[in-house]
Amino acid sequence: MTKPEITALLDLGDDYLQRYQDGTPIKKVLKDRTQINLFFEDSTRTRTSFELAGKRLGADVINMIVSSSSIKKGETLIDTAMTLNAMRPSALVVRHSASGAAALLAQKVTCSVLNAGDGSHEHPTQALLDALTIRRRKGQIEGQIVAICGDILHSRVARSNIHLLNTMGARVRVIAPPTLMPPFAENLGVSVHHDMREGIADADVVMMLRLQTERMQGAFVPSTSEYFHYYGLDAKKLAHAKDDALIMHPGPMNRGVEIDTVVADDIDRSAIQDQVETGVAIRMACLDALCNGPLP
Ligand code: ASP
Repeated sequence: MTKPEITALLDLGDDYLQRYQDGTPIKKVLKDRTQINLFFEDSTRTRTSFELAGKRLGADVINMIVSSSSIKKGETLIDTAMTLNAMRPSALVVRHSASGAAALLAQKVTCSVLNAGDGSHEHPTQALLDALTIRRRKGQIEGQIVAICGDILHSRVARSNIHLLNTMGARVRVIAPPTLMPPFAENLGVSVHHDMREGIADADVVMMLRLQTERMQGAFVPSTSEYFHYYGLDAKKLAHAKDDALIMHPGPMNRGVEIDTVVADDIDRSAIQDQVETGVAIRMACLDALCNGPLP
């Protein structure tokens, strides 16, 4: 996405968030439309917020439960999507463990496809909601030093955030042990750090990521307690960032592994709950923009 496209989606999301917070009525721009959520991987925040987003805009939302559907009987991803497409939904929201799954489906079906996470590749609506959270809390994205720390190698959240934040003019750093850093990470336009204190020095935003153990084969860190010692965010390490640094985490959090409870629950600096609320508004913006035509 280009900077103007991202900005337009953030503006629309901001408007939806404001309306919801003020109690201003929201136009049911998806009335009589059907949205199908097709999640092949577990999800709490993303699935619920896509469901809420569709419902707040008046859509009929259907959640496909993969464990009780024909997928369990061996139907392929494309056959499932084609079957659902024949029911003429306006939008298909897809999460799948394979990188590229959403893009593949988008070529096969006639409705809009929203990527709710494809393997370790991308999680675009997460990056958009993170960007809106930063913009609302910091006033702007451009020029902010954003330190993304944790399992960069397996994280789709990291990849989408790097693309988006770079496009919007932020200065992005990634911090991880060598085993959890993608090879040639600097080619993504970020500065690469293995020392947490160095990586978060003077950062405006510290974004923590979970160890994606479901995507690991073998041990990538010696132990979770050693990992926390070197890479877990606690007050001592956070002291290296700016005094008003924002703490972010896409969830689910593993307290005591990548983040200390006191830091995660710091009501002044933690934006973790804001991220969840902003997620609904951003997904409303994405559904509206994709189902009702191009953004201004
Ligand atoms: N919820 C995010 C994702 O689906 C981050 C995570 O699972 O750690 O990628």
